[in-house]
Amino acid sequence: MSQTSPPNILLLYSSRTGGVVVSRGSLAEEIRLRTRMRGSLSWAPPRFQIIFTAQPTHRRSEVVALQHFLCAGCGTAVEPSEYRTGNIFKLYFCDCCHGGSEAVIPGRLLSCWDFGRYPVSDFSKQLLESVWKQPLFDLTCVGKTLYSRVKELEKFRELQDQLIGIKKLLTACRLSGRVMAEFEQLPAHLMEQPHLFSMEDLLRVKKGQLMAQARALLHSAINHVENCELCLARGFICEFCRERDIIFPFQSDTCKRCPVCRACFHKRCFVEKKCPKCARIQSRKKCQEGFVK
Ligand SMILES: [Zn+2]
Ligand SMILES: [Zn+2]
Ligand SMILES: [Zn+2]
Ligand SMILES: [Zn+2]
Repeated sequence: MSQTSPPNILLLYSSRTGGVVVSRGSLAEEIRLRTRMRGSLSWAPPRFQIIFTAQPTHRRSEVVALQHFLCAGCGTAVEPSEYRTGNIFKLYFCDCCHGGSEAVIPGRLLSCWDFGRYPVSDFSKQLLESVWKQPLFDLTCVGKTLYSRVKELEKFRELQDQLIGIKKLLTACRLSGRVMAEFEQLPAHLMEQPHLFSMEDLLRVKKGQLMAQARALLHSAINHVENCELCLARGFICEFCRERDIIFPFQSDTCKRCPVCRACFHKRCFVEKKCPKCARIQSRKKCQEGFVK
């Protein structure tokens, strides 16, 4: 196959594990496959691919032999003593292809919440830079354990849910232009696909920047709703206690929705299967059925 074909970014999702992997086979198989598919018999250029899991370390002598003693980046024959290893592909590169660059490694980030910078080949560095801001990481697929292990990430998710809820309300309000514009400070994907993050997003979660931004945004949005007649008219009154405060589904720490009719109640008031609105709907139905008979 031609070596000049433009590089693709390959993300391989494994339906079996729900994770994202590059190859299910052994390292030997992987290298052989690459070689056969894309290069000469002994060398092929590295593919643009992102490995989402931390890679096991193989014996250096073993990997170098499988690479036919050629640099994984350019195919130049190099003395084994001069090889440098990359952290992404766990392959060996010559000095020209591995200029001592360092980068955050997706696999380490997703498996250990490790934002350390590790030596990578120039090729990997370039790839990682190009995808730094791209929302490639669905945390329900890759890095599944992060939510339960990383407190700040879980906190951000709660805020994100509230923001998505309140944004729906604001979208329906013709007076919300100013506060809606504030939402543009956040990367759009965070308001569209709740579990999808870029490496930059995750770093900003770690540094607390994304939390601060989300909190400020929620504050402005609530401020609008509480002072906007149009928005208030779309709120609910809790039918359990009939208190006069107007409540909204986005107030997820104090309010909840009936799973059947979607009406909103105080969390402290709501009794499962005793929803007043559902009861009303039921009795109306019975009434109509009786009428039809
Ligand atoms: Zn090289
Ligand atoms: Zn409004
Ligand atoms: Zn109530
Ligand atoms: Zn209900």
